[in-house]
Amino acid sequence: MTAQSHADLTTRRNAGAQSGFGRFFLPGPTEVRPRILESMIHAMIGHRGKSMEDLIARIQPGLQYVFRTTRPVYIATASATGLMEAAVRNGARARVLSLVSGAFGERFFQIAQACGLEADALTVPLGQAHTPEMLASALAGGRYDAVTVVHSETSTGALNPIADLARVAHDAGDVVLLVDSVTGIAGVPVETDAWELDFVLTGSQKALALPPGLAFGVARDNVLERAKAKPGRGIYFDLIDFDKGIRKNQTPNTPAVSLFYALAAQLDDIRQETIEGRWERHAAMARRTWGWVDEMRDAGLGVSVLSPEGFRSPTVTCIALPPSHSGNAVNAAMKARGFTISAGYGALKETSIRIGHMGDHTVAELDALLDVLREVLTA
Ligand SMILES: *Cc1c(COP(=O)(O)O)cnc(C)c1O
Repeated sequence: MTAQSHADLTTRRNAGAQSGFGRFFLPGPTEVRPRILESMIHAMIGHRGKSMEDLIARIQPGLQYVFRTTRPVYIATASATGLMEAAVRNGARARVLSLVSGAFGERFFQIAQACGLEADALTVPLGQAHTPEMLASALAGGRYDAVTVVHSETSTGALNPIADLARVAHDAGDVVLLVDSVTGIAGVPVETDAWELDFVLTGSQKALALPPGLAFGVARDNVLERAKAKPGRGIYFDLIDFDKGIRKNQTPNTPAVSLFYALAAQLDDIRQETIEGRWERHAAMARRTWGWVDEMRDAGLGVSVLSPEGFRSPTVTCIALPPSHSGNAVNAAMKARGFTISAGYGALKETSIRIGHMGDHTVAELDALLDVLREVLTA
């Protein structure tokens, strides 16, 4: 390819990416803005050098701003599942209660078992959330030292009341709450310090609207104390190593350097929007989606939001379909019109669709999507 035709191709691609933004509503990975993608085009730097330390020093306050914490935010080069494993390996002593409300709650449960812990699942029907009362009665026997929970269950669109669950866990004694807020943080209010979350984690490719490949977590001292006392916690996800490293603006191993540039650029933009503004934008997109489902139902189409009011995630909605429509078919029809959503997850694949209204999308872009979805469902 000549230099000129390569340049033409690049120009066309960028133009396409720009005009096409707002059509990709997968509940992860989410759409990444061209400006953020471009920020990764940067020469490599040594990860043990001053440039890397400067980059991490620049990123760290932004992450603390997003997590609402004064504690260090660990940065793992891994998908979010890696830090779910870190949560269990470092923070749980022997017996784990896993709150399961869908596929990711189930994954946390399986991780606990796979790490050699005794684990029980407290399962609610798909679409439902866990109430503080449920957790209080499950902890009453004093059997568990750790609880795993998914904040925003991406497979069903249900939102768990994390602040209340943390209070219940702490009222039960020496019990830690390990929180997967992968589709929560940066889209849903999370107050890491004020809610005294023992461990909370997210990944780069959901509400943070970055490419996949990084995961972020914050641990309280009680979790670090447990980690120190725990043999066999492994190396790659040893939170003690993360903690030592980040205090010197370092990572334990070679990080995904390019993604750190994207992270720095995105954190700058999040500060501009403000985290409260970001939460409000997500809430507005969610209200728009739920209102649209109501309008469609009033118009005679048998659709409904899977999760009950009061327990719905602002970042992802699972819409139950009438028997006349299959999730896969609706998904394919949307794709043919240039829009990406998702069929339901697992058991809900045929009977529902999911819209990821998270990341950097706006209500206006969502409106365009919902117009096309109306066409597809009423065709
Ligand atoms: C996407 C997701 C995960 C898994 O993230 P990976 O980055 O694929 O490991 C875990 N929990 C929730 C709630 C998610 O949405």
